[in-house]
Amino acid sequence: MKQTIVLATTNKGKTREIQKLLNHPSIEIKNLDDFGPIPEVIEDGETFDDNAYKKASFTAKILGYPAMADDSGLCVDALDGAPGVYSARYAGKNASDADNVNKMLDALKDKENREAEFKCVISIAVPTGAALTYEGDCKGVITKEPVGESGFGYDPLFFCPEFNKTFAQLTIEEKGQVSHRGKALQQVAGEMDKIIDWIDINMPKFERVGCKGKKS
Ligand code: IMP
Repeated sequence: MKQTIVLATTNKGKTREIQKLLNHPSIEIKNLDDFGPIPEVIEDGETFDDNAYKKASFTAKILGYPAMADDSGLCVDALDGAPGVYSARYAGKNASDADNVNKMLDALKDKENREAEFKCVISIAVPTGAALTYEGDCKGVITKEPVGESGFGYDPLFFCPEFNKTFAQLTIEEKGQVSHRGKALQQVAGEMDKIIDWIDINMPKFERVGCKGKKS
């Protein structure tokens, strides 16, 4: 029987990308849309590790399956690592990608040093709370204006030296080769057999207990 792993997301794009990369005959990857509604996880951790673990362990505990979650963001040198774990809400609680991009350009308008790094942590947890952690990062330079149409978030501002293009000018496949998330996922894919063994050892086992009542 295949081992189910639940992605702690409802994002269809992310799910498809991960299903494609982690394709393995012994696992079936589902996401939260395959189950009934569950309480929302508050991402209030101070590190990517904290948030990824929180999402993965909560989902595993609630649904009773091994779960996988990622947390990522952009860390800019001249801003002392900001926005980091606050990347999604850099320009405020309901900020759009455009709001965040504009705030970033404004914060860096007088800065010489435009070096930055995307970071990603992937946590794979079982319902008891035990977890494995994978990390990926990608160094780049923040451009002076948005360039490119693809992707999401800060992609139009993130110049990637390997391709001499911004992330927003890359295909999904190209971005997957060099991106923080792509690198973390490549590690997970490379260790899939070990991960399946680890899940098998760490998943709680339920024994059937026979009924010992007297026969009448
Ligand atoms: P999440 O943890 O993957 O949801 O990412 C949090 C936030 O970081 C996103 O809302 C984006 O603003 C930013 N971010 C993370 N990964 C990327 C990326 O690959 N490109 C652009 N922005 C990203």
